[in-house]
Amino acid sequence: MSEKIMSFFASVEQNFNQAAPFTGQPAGLLEQIRSCNSVFRMNFPVKIGDEVRVIEAYRVQHSHHRLPTKGGIRYSNHVNQDEVMALAALMTYKCAIVNVPFGGAKGGVKINPWEFTPDQLERITRRYTFELIKHNMIGPSIDVPAPDYGTGAREMAWIYDTYRAFKGNDIDAAGCVTGKPVHQNGVNGREEATGRGVYYGIRECLNQADDMKKIGLTPGTEGKTMIIQGLGNVGSFTGTISQDEGGVKIIGVGEVEGAIYKPSGIDIHDLLRFRKETGSILNYPGATNIPKEQRDSILEYECDILVPAALESVITKENADRIKAKVIAEAANGPVSAPGNEILVKKGVFIIPDMFLNAGG
Ligand code: NAD
Repeated sequence: MSEKIMSFFASVEQNFNQAAPFTGQPAGLLEQIRSCNSVFRMNFPVKIGDEVRVIEAYRVQHSHHRLPTKGGIRYSNHVNQDEVMALAALMTYKCAIVNVPFGGAKGGVKINPWEFTPDQLERITRRYTFELIKHNMIGPSIDVPAPDYGTGAREMAWIYDTYRAFKGNDIDAAGCVTGKPVHQNGVNGREEATGRGVYYGIRECLNQADDMKKIGLTPGTEGKTMIIQGLGNVGSFTGTISQDEGGVKIIGVGEVEGAIYKPSGIDIHDLLRFRKETGSILNYPGATNIPKEQRDSILEYECDILVPAALESVITKENADRIKAKVIAEAANGPVSAPGNEILVKKGVFIIPDMFLNAGG
């Protein structure tokens, strides 16, 4: 299938179809594992300023083989049914691989969260939660959301509070959502858990001397160079923990406003401080700027470990040939498309797959 028309869900299915025969399970059972069990699409109105905005949103429960189902909620302009189905399927496989007793799910709200005030986001989040409650798509024993791209502890607190308002007699109400602030029944360590898991996965893979020999790397993380795309929850914690605990040298970072490259190394804590103060990673002292229009070219710079930690399908058939990294650590969900993956594997690039690497959350 041509890359241009291959959707994210089709890409996940292609990977499944390739791996499934090795399990020796009957075709009917594999079909049941692959299928998306429930897809709920909703449109709800929210008053934004003087206007009423109709918001498109989804919750997909990919597999009910174990309950509750589990998976984050994404706020992004790019949200669509195919994307949420793909992300929900990845959650099923992820939970199975790390052996936690959940089915896979995912939610999506089609908005650019950075365009709204906190007050407006609260209204959208509470209304979305209300829709989930109304359709019995949320609850500690049914389906338990979590943060994903564009959402965090704040949104999870609003979800919990809305759920509690409707289901106050449920003693387990706090279990309706994970990733809440610690002071609101959240769990210590959850905020950095995905990034920490990404680092642990990288560390374990880089400790395999035989595998590293094949790609011309010495074992261990110390002194290895890293490029990160996306400095949000997953990217920033992967960066800080890899630098602090693994002695990794970060030489490039990509964000929405552009990318920076500094072969002598970027102190990631200092860069996060710099971005908070100036609102941008660009013009970081000593680094070369890559303008917004060419920001994705940072993926093609030479490095030992490339960490795409923003969105899916950033490495495809179009640019896979130009990737020079020796290891690609899939911190985001689906950053390498199935056709892109084929090219990279032929080139001998060592890919650490998302459904193993980012399951720490
Ligand atoms: P986030 O919203 O905290 O951060 C994403 C960052 O990527 C933002 O800073 C954004 O500005 C940046 N970004 C967007 N487009 C970009 C581009 N083209 N180039 C460079 N940067 C860009 O989101 P997150 O929670 O860190 O999620 C990132 C990825 O990790 C997603 O694929 C998500 O599904 C996956 N993931 C997240 C978790 C979690 O616990 N949050 C768990 C597993 C997987």
